[in-house]
Amino acid sequence: MIEKVLIANRGEIALRIYRACREMGIKTVAVHSTADADAMHVRMADEAVCIGPAPAKESYLNKAAIIMAALVSGADAIHPGYGFLSENADFAQMVEDHGLVWIGPKPEMMRLMGDKITAKRAAKEAGLPVVPGSDGSVDTVEEALAVAKKTGYPVIVKATAGGGGKGMKIARSDEEMAEAYRLARAEAKASFASDEVFIEKYLENPRHIEVQVLADNYNNVVYLGERDCSLQRNNQKLLEETPSPALNAEQRKKIGTLVAEAMKKIGYNNVGTVEFLYENGEFYFIEMNTRLQVEHPITEMVTGIDLVREQIRVAGGAHLNYVQDDVHFEGHAMECRINAEDPFTFVPCPGKIEQWHAPGGLWTRVDSGMYTGYTVPPYYDSMIAKLIIFGKSRNGCLMRLHRAIDEFVIEGVKNTLPLHNEVISTTDFIEGRYSIHWLEHFIQNRNKQNG
Ligand code: ADP
Repeated sequence: MIEKVLIANRGEIALRIYRACREMGIKTVAVHSTADADAMHVRMADEAVCIGPAPAKESYLNKAAIIMAALVSGADAIHPGYGFLSENADFAQMVEDHGLVWIGPKPEMMRLMGDKITAKRAAKEAGLPVVPGSDGSVDTVEEALAVAKKTGYPVIVKATAGGGGKGMKIARSDEEMAEAYRLARAEAKASFASDEVFIEKYLENPRHIEVQVLADNYNNVVYLGERDCSLQRNNQKLLEETPSPALNAEQRKKIGTLVAEAMKKIGYNNVGTVEFLYENGEFYFIEMNTRLQVEHPITEMVTGIDLVREQIRVAGGAHLNYVQDDVHFEGHAMECRINAEDPFTFVPCPGKIEQWHAPGGLWTRVDSGMYTGYTVPPYYDSMIAKLIIFGKSRNGCLMRLHRAIDEFVIEGVKNTLPLHNEVISTTDFIEGRYSIHWLEHFIQNRNKQNG
């Protein structure tokens, strides 16, 4: 039984985890940098420990300080949230070695899935369709050219240790390959301390569709439907919805069942997200995220399942509360990520929030740690809120989202709310017709028109 959780994160996700703990009667310990002393997660938690100065490297990524905070405060488990140390298998191992519960998958699962080559191999062996490409790492330009010859151009060179859309380069011909290969390696080395790369066929116009899974420590697995995260800028998701406008119930069941079976074979535990590209009716596995995702609330809206509560329960050794037949999908949900950024140039705009009024009303959820008078620090991710809306139908959800955006007041920092309003008013979005490139084209055209 878990009785006290240390939350190794900040911002809205730290609050999200606090809320689940509070409802379960579990005590919480917040950790924070000196820049976050007046943050909402620090105010809400039962206890708070300052773990270092503002730069994340010295605080939220400081493994020893976080373990110390857990031991000193008497916490018996650590929830990593997303980002920061959430996908760091060494940290998960360290947590367990100190006799604490890691609220996430086993470290060996994180290792297997954290490396894109071993992840792809494991997915393929477990029966998931993968993007055609190199069999493992590609160590020379000659090898890269040979792989491209086999798969056909265009191809994408990707960092094995990649994340956040970094270390990926497209090549459309032999001439472009040398440059793409060199750049991908250099970017990989700079970002991930490993310059290993691999190659896949570049899909021209796919959707990004991911499947949520939930598993206990006894090899019981359920899938909780999919999320369509095709609306991306620089490979960063901006607006997500479930169900995907591209799938029907039969296709959902088919891919969900396939994923759940694969996770059973692999022996996966806790929550995870299996990401696919989807083109011309076919799914292609690209990677797996071994943690809670930013966009998890839309799954909660349509299944009625509290994912953080389930994570904590199964990490504590409980059996899954559900078998697949108990999971029902109802209605439609959308999430807008609101970033403190200029909605045209996307330059981060930290600063003081002069006025904050979040929308409310039926099926309107705002996950955020913001309040009037709070100063958004410049050191961390620029996401300041998630607006999550449910509707019985997609259209109902969309109408409610318009209403909620109209109600939202954010003054003092530039933010992406106006962009969301524009996107959801387009015919393409209303009709659910968009691929992973749609948003970039939309932004380019809009900025051209506005000079
Ligand atoms: P990361 O771990 O950096 O997020 P992913 O492998 O998840 O990297 O890919 C991120 C995004 O890059 C995808 O959502 C998609 O938009 C694009 N992408 C990745 N692989 C391919 C591919 N083979 N073809 C086309 N686009 C791709």
